[in-house]
Amino acid sequence: MVTEVLTPAELSKVDPVFGQLSFDNHEQIVFCNDKDTGLKAIIGIHNTVLGPALGGTRMWKYNNEWEALNDVLRLSRGMTYKSAVTGLNLGGGKAVIIGDSKIDKTPEMITKFGQYVNSLSGKYITAEDVGTTTADMDLIRDVTSFVTGVSESRGGSGNPSPVTAYGVFMGMKAAAKYKFGSDNLEGKKVLVQGAGHVGETLVSHLAKEGADVYIFDIHEDKTQAVAQKYGAKVFTGDVYSADVDIYAPCALGATINDETIHTLKAKVIAGAANNQLAVEQIHGVLLQEKGIAYAPDFLINAGGIINVYAEIVGYDKAEALRRTENIYNTTLEIFALADQNKITTHQAAMAIAERRIAERKLQNSSK
Ligand code: NAD
Repeated sequence: MVTEVLTPAELSKVDPVFGQLSFDNHEQIVFCNDKDTGLKAIIGIHNTVLGPALGGTRMWKYNNEWEALNDVLRLSRGMTYKSAVTGLNLGGGKAVIIGDSKIDKTPEMITKFGQYVNSLSGKYITAEDVGTTTADMDLIRDVTSFVTGVSESRGGSGNPSPVTAYGVFMGMKAAAKYKFGSDNLEGKKVLVQGAGHVGETLVSHLAKEGADVYIFDIHEDKTQAVAQKYGAKVFTGDVYSADVDIYAPCALGATINDETIHTLKAKVIAGAANNQLAVEQIHGVLLQEKGIAYAPDFLINAGGIINVYAEIVGYDKAEALRRTENIYNTTLEIFALADQNKITTHQAAMAIAERRIAERKLQNSSK
């Protein structure tokens, strides 16, 4: 299975849905169109062997529908493996709404989207992602119970980003332990790309630990504000060739690609962004060959899903944080497994997830 970012011209040459390179035996793909509200969304349900497919809704100004479809296929598949490797009884799903969240989003559109989610009777459970907010989840809750990440005042777990950031911090510490022999990040030069919800909290953890933190966000005002708040430095120059100890991608995916891979100088990569490797099989191996310790994204950014999962089973913040802290141990286990089997850390994490799904499938079929 190859998941890679294709140009629109390349995408248009393959079969529309099942022939997409990012299609990986997804169980169901739902196209939602509502003329009155302008909603155009795609819900991708990748796998429900371990439980209902839970994953956030991303609102993004895609250049075309191919790009949106490719994104939802990649993201929903990623959720399957994220929940499986983290030990949650959840399947993988994700949704994308096509449009600029700052301009096109309306309460009516979000409500309509909630109705589409409701029509799936719990096979897909939504949450927030880039371009959607806790307030949007509250609107969705008005029309369906199949939503998580609603505000705390409504019995939800609120914004998952701080827990995600804590998990990334734990994964980063484990990767540092593997690479540098100590998980103490004091004095380590860390470049955080993206100073958004997750990036900012990650910066706060790093600053508290005494790391030498650099920030780069495409929005300069955000970079300045976050740098000032936590006493971090504003990074100028090329992110990918930065001479740092740790690179933390916390913006969008596929930043480890053919163009960037050869310029990377960081010794550890550990960040929140989903699908950091443009082509898993190629760029994962190249990172390994370069001796860069890569903490698999779908493992270390699982804090958010752990937090919203807790909402389904009865929210207990302390338990969610304990599980998130355990990302440290799982990351170390994955580095060890990768070394033992001479495979990449991404492959090692996938192997654990796949084994769990296969075992459950067997159990389910023998019932
Ligand atoms: P966000 O939208 O709050 O922040 C993203 C930030 O990245 C924004 O400030 C944006 O300006 C910046 N950005 C975009 N492109 C950039 C680029 N090329 N260079 C530098 N900065 C750039 O999103 P978030 O909630 O902080 O999530 C960050 C990443 O982590 C996303 O990929 C998301 O899918 C992933 N993630 C988030 C969560 C969560 O709980 N929020 C959970 C798992 C994974």
